[in-house]
Amino acid sequence: MADDGRAGATPPGGRQGATGPEGVPEGRAARIAANLESVRDRVARACAAAGRPAGDVTLIAVTKTFPASDVRILAELGVRDIGENRDQEAAPKAAESADLDLRWHFIGQLQTNKAKSAARYADVVHSVDRPRLVHELGRRVRAEGRRLTCLVQVNLDPSSSPGVLGPRGGADTRDVLGIADTIAAEDGLVLGGVMAVAPREGDPGSAFARLYEVAERVRGRYPQARTVSAGMSADLEAAIAQGATHLRVGTALLDDRGPIVG
Ligand SMILES: *Cc1c(COP(=O)(O)O)cnc(C)c1O
Repeated sequence: MADDGRAGATPPGGRQGATGPEGVPEGRAARIAANLESVRDRVARACAAAGRPAGDVTLIAVTKTFPASDVRILAELGVRDIGENRDQEAAPKAAESADLDLRWHFIGQLQTNKAKSAARYADVVHSVDRPRLVHELGRRVRAEGRRLTCLVQVNLDPSSSPGVLGPRGGADTRDVLGIADTIAAEDGLVLGGVMAVAPREGDPGSAFARLYEVAERVRGRYPQARTVSAGMSADLEAAIAQGATHLRVGTALLDDRGPIVG
């Protein structure tokens, strides 16, 4: 039995803070299984309402701030796509989960100096929003002998301007095709499509509708770039209604992260 430092606080035979094998709290797997079922149910209903087959939409479980043991539970429940937003956290978690058959999605703002690390474990980077990052990811992924799918992150803030990244990253809609061209031209990178986070203010549905227009423009030039990564715990129905192919869901699967969200 692993000692996670809490075992000593557990009264003999007591249930509080009890842990199962490897320090995983008892009931955690059941909790995540129940959450997953309700998220899958929401996805199925939203797809039905939009007249789309449920198989159209891939669920990415966002495990940021949660331990690798949760990744393992998700994998046992059949989730294959895992999302992380900080390299410092993602790299060790991916290493701990190397025996599992997972696809790692990097969804957070990526500093150029973290491209080398991300190129080792990421299968998809959702947050590509500037040419310099494209070239650095290409260089690093070629050195690793890997391939990497890249999505262009779009800033959906209506007051955004060309050449200026949003506060949470993302290129102005007018810059997206140019970045898509840069990705498509870079050896080792595959252009997958587009990604966005709904603005904090306003109706997510109208924001996702703008994303869909941008996605269509990209697809007009690159027919294989079909991914539209949009929708989180609070707005996945609106994203599905507006053509999302990939959802990035954290809290609805794993419960509250608390106030510290990167
Ligand atoms: C954290 C995060 C998510 C998941 O958000 P939830 O509200 O927990 O579902 C999705 N996308 C990005 C970019 C994130 O950082």
